[in-house]
Amino acid sequence: MGPALRTRMSHSYRGRFAPSPTGPLHFGSLVAALASYLEARSHNGHWLVRIEDLDPLREPPDAADRILRTLEAHGLTWDESVAYQSQRSDLYRGQLAALRSKGYAYRCPCSRRDLAENQGKHPNACRHHPDRHYDEPTAWRFAVQSGLYAWQDQLQGYQQYQLEAERDDFVVQRKEGFYAYQLAVVCDDAEQDIRHIVRGSDLLDSTPLQLALLAALELPIPSYLHVPVIVDNHGQKLSKQNHATAIDDRIPGHNLWLALVALHQSPPADLKLAPPETVLAWAGENWSLTHLPAQKTLPMPAAEEA
Ligand code: GLU
Repeated sequence: MGPALRTRMSHSYRGRFAPSPTGPLHFGSLVAALASYLEARSHNGHWLVRIEDLDPLREPPDAADRILRTLEAHGLTWDESVAYQSQRSDLYRGQLAALRSKGYAYRCPCSRRDLAENQGKHPNACRHHPDRHYDEPTAWRFAVQSGLYAWQDQLQGYQQYQLEAERDDFVVQRKEGFYAYQLAVVCDDAEQDIRHIVRGSDLLDSTPLQLALLAALELPIPSYLHVPVIVDNHGQKLSKQNHATAIDDRIPGHNLWLALVALHQSPPADLKLAPPETVLAWAGENWSLTHLPAQKTLPMPAAEEA
């Protein structure tokens, strides 16, 4: 068994930024980092950074360090030491064992193709034969309980998703042995006592899956605030997969200023070329969620605003 989840008695604000180091930070990820940082600071809370390095095959070796250097260059300094998911397998192993003992996890040899050919359902009903022996390594899936999973998002309002047993069962450990994001993220947020999750709206669809896991593991449910993701002028989300331009660490104050423009915070024009500490000091005093539109996406600020 892995280490037991720590129980802290603190109920103060604890937030985090949890990038996957698949490439350098781009403008969209800076916006998400800044929103979670300002929310934490405006509550006099702690802000943690967690590197979600679960998939070595997709991670250039220097990406995590580069992300941390970019955060530092922008004055986004974190509390406590940086957590690396690659070093926390004991925690995930322990929680996967807990899921298994409660009957919430099963071995599954199905490929994506097998599932697609069967409308997403498991052709050989692996879920219903948990004791079946497999010679090959298999993935472990979470056995979703059908039902409505809902939460009051602090920006997007009331959200609800219907999950269906078997069709929505998701992988918690891949057959290669890597733990999956959904499992790691709920284990870490609980173990690090993260009570307030601020992240991009691209993760809205993951939230019901995480709520289902939290319920199965009897872990506390954090609050959620999904900020709009930044899209380019073709409506495409800026992402590492789309090769969004890396943040230029030489102009941190300007990048922060532009991120505040994107988040509808209306920073004064004379801060456009100010040092990052000055822009952050202004943002710390003026940050207001009420200015942030309850939308899934926001455009990249137009060139004339820059
Ligand atoms: N690691 C995820 C990403 O970079 C974010 C996870 C989260 O904030 O829950 O998209």
